[in-house]
Amino acid sequence: MTQKKIYLAEDQMPEFWYNIVADMPNKPLPPLHPATGEPIGPDALSPLFPMELIMQEVSQERFIEIPEAVREKYLLYRPSPLIRATELEKAMKTNSRIYYKYEGVSPSGSHKTNTAIAQAYYNAVSGTKKITTETGAGQWGSALSYACNLFGIECEVYMVKVSYNQKPYRKIMMNTYGASVFASPSERTAAGRKVMLNHPESNGSLGTAISEAMEMAVSDPDTKYALGSVLNHVLLHQTIIGEEALLQFDMADDYPDIVIAPLGGGSNFAGLAFPFLRNKLQSNSDIRAIAVEAASCPKLTRGKFMYDFGDTEGLTPLLPMYTLGHNFESAPIHAGGLRYHGASVLVSQLLNDGLVEASALTQNECFSAGQLFAKTEGIMPAPESNHAIAQAIREAKACDEKGEIKTILFNLSGHGFMDMASYGDYNAGKLADHTLSQEEIAHYLSEIQALQPQLMA
Ligand SMILES: *Cc1c(COP(=O)(O)O)cnc(C)c1O
Repeated sequence: MTQKKIYLAEDQMPEFWYNIVADMPNKPLPPLHPATGEPIGPDALSPLFPMELIMQEVSQERFIEIPEAVREKYLLYRPSPLIRATELEKAMKTNSRIYYKYEGVSPSGSHKTNTAIAQAYYNAVSGTKKITTETGAGQWGSALSYACNLFGIECEVYMVKVSYNQKPYRKIMMNTYGASVFASPSERTAAGRKVMLNHPESNGSLGTAISEAMEMAVSDPDTKYALGSVLNHVLLHQTIIGEEALLQFDMADDYPDIVIAPLGGGSNFAGLAFPFLRNKLQSNSDIRAIAVEAASCPKLTRGKFMYDFGDTEGLTPLLPMYTLGHNFESAPIHAGGLRYHGASVLVSQLLNDGLVEASALTQNECFSAGQLFAKTEGIMPAPESNHAIAQAIREAKACDEKGEIKTILFNLSGHGFMDMASYGDYNAGKLADHTLSQEEIAHYLSEIQALQPQLMA
């Protein structure tokens, strides 16, 4: 019988994060100052982040040591298991081998704890008293609330209003970990008041919540800001997932042909795929890495590689990324973590260079895959994770049709125990698959045309 669950011993945990920049054939383009169009230096970020994280943001070093204090906290839930989806394979009658790395074992229920702990640690050692952040569905806010508490830092979360009203349990969880939570747009910031004045009925957006959290951070020297995805240092911290998986595949005496992860901003995809891509970039051992986005928010498959803001207000530097334009508003799909308008600079550059692939799936296909997974493997997946499951099923079926046998690995980025309402809607046949017209996409992209510096125009 094959071993179903592959656990690493605690003393086998990787001690380094992997920085893919060192091995990228084309280095990422620089972030630009929106007013001057000139590359910005690390100093411009210092009101927002502690210096150690800024140095990681711009680092070219291949391996960065995980501080002992961070590794100690990782042991609360890591190493996470690599699990062979034997029951799913049987139900599908596939000849391929399907594995998943289960990040739902983290205290707040998703991979986001991996970077939350690291960011809270670097803030604590540099004297930060309070961290502000935004959260959409609540996964990131929960992870950061927990991590801040571990290191004795106050945490203030701006939660997109629609989720604040729809997901009261996430708010309760954050409050229980000791954080303050505000519905965004709020009256507490100029950015929030502006949105409320122009759109009194606004349900909020991730972009507005980012603007509010950043505004609070820059107005107080003891307060810093934290982002749960997109930035290079966030992707770096997530590589613990793939580094563990590499060791676990050694133990299983197997190796994936295809790695798959859902993509909102790009952090869990990078976390799982980048360590495997290192082998591809260094030795030409082949692997396909597929990022799966929501068809309602298709920046990778229908957006463009352009400079754009990370937030709605235009407070962030301009970043070179696959984007739908920072004014794009995704339909209210249940996978809240996949509704961001852009994708991380590193993943965008790799996609542009043909080193990773992208796929966009509609939510009914994804929930159907999630239900099959729940019935077979027993775990209720997060709606975001369902995108990876659906793609893994597609790949296994394609192999069976061609008579091939492959090893497929996907990231089960979180559990769905806080997302039961979405399964309720799916079970009741109430989920809509939104179609997005080419005109709509062209409209949002035309709004950012003027931001492009000469070199990309
Ligand atoms: C936030 C989230 C995602 C998407 O964010 P990435 O930064 O792209 O990883 C995916 N799955 C879960 C469970 C999430 O909470």
